Amino acid sequence: MAGLVAAARLRELGRKAVVLEKGDRPGGSMLLSSCVVWRFREWDDFRAECPGGDERLQRVVWERLDEAIAWLESLGAPVVWQETGNPRTVGKRFDPRGLTDVLVRAAGELRLSTSHNVLPREDEPVVLCTGGFQGSAELVAEHIRPAGRLRLRANRWSAGDGLRIGLTRGATRSAGMDEFYGRNMPDTDFSEADFVPQAQLYGRFARVFNEDGEEFFEGRVSWSENDLVQATARQPSARAWYVLDDAALAERVRDRTVADMVAAAPSSAKLEPERLPFCVQAEARIAVRIAPGITHTIGGLRIDERACVLGEGGRRVEGLLAAGADVGGISTGGYASGLAAALVFGRIAAESAT
Ligand SMILES: Cc1cc2nc3c(=O)[nH]c(=O)nc-3n(C[C@H](O)[C@H](O)[C@H](O)COP(=O)(O)OP(=O)(O)OC[C@H]3O[C@@H](n4cnc5c(N)ncnc54)[C@H](O)[C@@H]3O)c2cc1C
Repeated sequence: MAGLVAAARLRELGRKAVVLEKGDRPGGSMLLSSCVVWRFREWDDFRAECPGGDERLQRVVWERLDEAIAWLESLGAPVVWQETGNPRTVGKRFDPRGLTDVLVRAAGELRLSTSHNVLPREDEPVVLCTGGFQGSAELVAEHIRPAGRLRLRANRWSAGDGLRIGLTRGATRSAGMDEFYGRNMPDTDFSEADFVPQAQLYGRFARVFNEDGEEFFEGRVSWSENDLVQATARQPSARAWYVLDDAALAERVRDRTVADMVAAAPSSAKLEPERLPFCVQAEARIAVRIAPGITHTIGGLRIDERACVLGEGGRRVEGLLAAGADVGGISTGGYASGLAAALVFGRIAAESAT
């Protein structure tokens, strides 16, 4: 998202921009997403939910998101929900295909299937927006250190190229390099079309056991369940079981019951509770074996409020800007909308580049 947004804003400001896209289609993970672009309604909630984030960057997202959403609408981006449906957040849900098409039209020159080895020229401003490093098994192992391989729940091209280019040019890393946003998915193979419908977003209603039969998660699971997903990644083989009774199966998350979400999981990920290799509650009805899918990394390049990449001593790296999941330090310690950060800082990066 951030790259298309930056290019569209640059054109609007009368500048020429070229989007170099590594993939064979535009839109990145935005195109695959649920496309809810949101912020916390209350500033204090943002700070409380993402306590490790850089307060100055968070403030920019929080203050500038509403105008940025209005800008998307002014470009013709199709809105499918006028509200998020979550009382703690405000924002809109866009149609991801429609939003991508609108941004591609507004962005102008787009070159698909560019090589990741093409280093940007140093004498022209560059906005790094390659979408994080979740697609690189090596970088994920180095920074996040999961106890087993994390399957990718995102576009397949975001493999840390922005991070690598930034570090080569003298950038520094943000806090939270070991954090990620993702969803617990059924422990079976899944495709892009399964990313949203197969997400098992009901861990807060389940009893959660690791492979050794231990209930490893302490305290209350957050509404986004990102804390549970990250904790699952650190269990033996990065796997867990959600064990559900009738009351849990009847709970609702937005327009779906937990039973609906369980039904969406392939049968090979489900078991009768009595067949588990450890004892669970007598009233349990079903067990679902889950494993985290990684959607995007939370740590990344350090930037300032103008989207300028920061090097040692907080000095700006000349000509280098960054936006989207290549940037770290915004939702650190929790979860906040990746699309919101990409939208706000994509626009700001364009303004700074001029
Ligand atoms: C299933 C799913 C559901 C989601 N739902 C939501 C949601 O409802 N709300 C929300 O806020 N977020 C959601 N997200 C997350 C959201 O999609 C991301 O936070 C957002 O897309 C990040 O924007 P970005 O511009 O950094 O990355 P992307 O949108 O992924 O764009 C990065 C682009 O960079 C390209 N690229 C990578 N390497 C290179 C290179 N070397 N050279 C050139 N191009 C390169 C990629 O191909 C990609 O097109 C969801 C994601 C997924 C997968």
